[in-house]
Amino acid sequence: MPGFELFGDKERKQVNEVLDTGVLMRYGFDGMRKGQWKALELEKVLSEKMQVKHTQLVSSGTAALTVALASAGIGAGDEVIMPTFTFVASFESILAIGAVPILVDVDDTLALSPKAVENAITERTRVVMPVHMCGSMADLKALKAICDKHDLLLLEDACQSIGGTFENKPLGSYGDLGCFSFDYVKTITCGEGGAIITNNDTYKVNADHYSDHGHDHVGKDRGAETHPFLGYNFRISELHAAVGLAQVERLDEFLTIQKKNYTVLREALQDLPNVEFRRVPEGGEESYAFLTFFLPDADTAKKAHGELGKAGVDACFYWYDNNWHYYREWQHLIEKQSLGKLPKEIHEQLPDYSKSDFSASDQWIGRTVSCLIKLGWSENEVKERAQKMVGVLSKL
Ligand SMILES: *Cc1c(COP(=O)(O)O)cnc(C)c1O
Repeated sequence: MPGFELFGDKERKQVNEVLDTGVLMRYGFDGMRKGQWKALELEKVLSEKMQVKHTQLVSSGTAALTVALASAGIGAGDEVIMPTFTFVASFESILAIGAVPILVDVDDTLALSPKAVENAITERTRVVMPVHMCGSMADLKALKAICDKHDLLLLEDACQSIGGTFENKPLGSYGDLGCFSFDYVKTITCGEGGAIITNNDTYKVNADHYSDHGHDHVGKDRGAETHPFLGYNFRISELHAAVGLAQVERLDEFLTIQKKNYTVLREALQDLPNVEFRRVPEGGEESYAFLTFFLPDADTAKKAHGELGKAGVDACFYWYDNNWHYYREWQHLIEKQSLGKLPKEIHEQLPDYSKSDFSASDQWIGRTVSCLIKLGWSENEVKERAQKMVGVLSKL
């Protein structure tokens, strides 16, 4: 997955074009820019690639989720359904706008279980936020049907799965809003950065204003612009956008390498009797950022993860014990450990997660091992890796 592996002259050229103008900000300074508008240009390229009307770039994937929620008018006391298996950014963005994260089980897709989502809906639910973890996706068709039935917003977190598709639509473009991250470990990177995509004109205008202190961006000088509603600063800089522009033009190249390396490993493992691959919902095609599989039980999975490490197969994860990606280690959320006081709604509405039953998630995540697919491996390195993996997994 990491875009940081493949880096070079194209990125350097884009950044130098910005440095040559001295305008590091995406807005204003028209006279000095020498025609360079990197953020605007990247938004255009992303909209085309993702087959949507609008893209709003922001400073991170977490900012993208926050701005996406705010742009749709989500706020204090609104409930947002999110999975137990995701990055902490999911609940951070929900809490940031005063809304309430409602954790819900994942199934064998390792993304939101549609059944569990339906059971978690209350009169305060406003959003369903599936997270397409590790290069694959949630069952978007089932989730969309639920959202349509209950008049809820579908917000896709596609931060780890850029390039994957569902029913031939790019991940992120199927729901009402989609979010990407371009941090340093994602498939393509800006260093730091994120994007919101949508076909909704109002959400785009709101995201544009909200991410820049409420600026209405009517094209006067910045000081003369007005502020129709409160906003914050979630802007991306021209330098970051310049890096992203070089990277996005290489996305297809990265995806091709990713798929090739994934396929070698998957084919090597597919006849092992104790290995079962994670389910990709019908209509979905992965981005192939990770190869993810189940072992017969949690003890075997944990052992497999340890043995893979010892055999030199790096970058494999046992998510069940992970501090950042699974609810079991989110004590700061469970105990509401905030620096200042949290909004009243969160105290009143946040379930006591120490008493929640997420055994359905534990069943799947406990058995899961997930290995990052790198782009920089040589053909020989991939083959050796496949042999080592078969060696470990066939002897458990
Ligand atoms: C990386 C990531 C984010 C947040 O992105 P940042 O750019 O690091 O803020 C959100 N969700 C998921 C699933 C991620 O992997």
